[in-house]
Amino acid sequence: MIPVLIVLNAGSSSLKFQVFDMVEGTEPRLVWKGLYEGLGNDAHFVVRHASGVDLDEKSWTSKDSFGHEEALMHLVSWLREHQEGRKPMALGHRVVHGGETFSGPVLVDDTVIQKLEALVPLAPLHQPHNLEPIRIVRRRMPGMPQVACFDTAFHHSQSEIASMFALPREMRQRGVRRYGFHGLSYDYIASVLKDYDPHLAKGRVIVAHLGNGASLCALKEGASVATTMGFSALDGLPMGTRCGAVDAGVVFYMLREMKLTPEAAERMLYTKSGLLGVSGISNDMRMLRAKAATDDNAKRAIDLFVYRITREIGSLIAALGGLDGLIFTAGIGENDVATRAEVIAGLSWAGLSLDEIANRSSGPRISSGSGPAAWVIPTNEELVIARQTRSILGATQAKLAS
Ligand code: ADP
Repeated sequence: MIPVLIVLNAGSSSLKFQVFDMVEGTEPRLVWKGLYEGLGNDAHFVVRHASGVDLDEKSWTSKDSFGHEEALMHLVSWLREHQEGRKPMALGHRVVHGGETFSGPVLVDDTVIQKLEALVPLAPLHQPHNLEPIRIVRRRMPGMPQVACFDTAFHHSQSEIASMFALPREMRQRGVRRYGFHGLSYDYIASVLKDYDPHLAKGRVIVAHLGNGASLCALKEGASVATTMGFSALDGLPMGTRCGAVDAGVVFYMLREMKLTPEAAERMLYTKSGLLGVSGISNDMRMLRAKAATDDNAKRAIDLFVYRITREIGSLIAALGGLDGLIFTAGIGENDVATRAEVIAGLSWAGLSLDEIANRSSGPRISSGSGPAAWVIPTNEELVIARQTRSILGATQAKLAS
């Protein structure tokens, strides 16, 4: 019997999953990955083998009331039918916010759930959806160990100064501070960097996680020292539909002069801004690149994205006291040749120089010359969740045995 881990990443109407074999002494090994979309409405399930071959799919209509709970139960029975000598041992969950309390993954119990629920106001658009499958599994499969893995935890290494806002002290006591996100992705990059460039792994590195969500992280010897996202996942770079950093005065203007409700203002900043808002066309970089030659708004959205990335990298170089390397990752970072070229061109002052041929084939090393190195490294947040889940399970079993 091969023990397996199920990794879950739940959104408002989606549930992504990956299933890993756990073989003693080796990395967790991906077996299947899949997705439920349109939950609560016209839902669709698809599952692929690790090799990329489609294995199965199914659809439900809105009449079926197929939501997160139904998806989880469907997944459990799908796994049972296809288990081929496998047995689920635990679930690892992506949870966006671990607050001040959780500086690493944690085995879930009722007290942990309560603490995570208390963090909902800090991430109202993500945290409730991340917690829903945890509650469902606890109710429907109470004996199944569950581990919560946080997007914030990796940034606990930052100094107090790097994590502060210049607000009155009582705001800090309420938990109003910079937390930072995308920590599972940065954890992965920090863990594999030595395989690409052992010297760089010990140096001053900026990781550009450029996907639908986008942020930068400054790493010193593999630990986070600064990042562009702050209290919420809105701050920092412009993203697919999120605005990135805006003057807080804009929010007062929206509420007072435009008479928007807080919910409407939040919706605009999270879902109607960024590449989508500026272009008026799409949040999808592929679409914008295709239109940029003939559409000024598509070009402007990309130019702003690149300009903000370049400026924020300048700020993180100051936080690091110099730069040894820049890593591109996530959907845009891994695939968009032009964004990488434009960002590196904007950093020639810092000694970066592009190897154009390597960039066109995604490197992995895409820099030339003796200045800071630049690399393209695909991220793998789910593998980090599997690793963290296994390490918490191992620690728990060792505690029980002693
Ligand atoms: P998420 O944050 O949802 O995980 P991803 O990391 O998948 O997002 O990134 C999605 C972004 O990556 C989209 O803007 C998409 O257009 C972009 N992207 C994906 N593939 C390519 C490609 N081949 N060329 C340019 N951009 C791409």
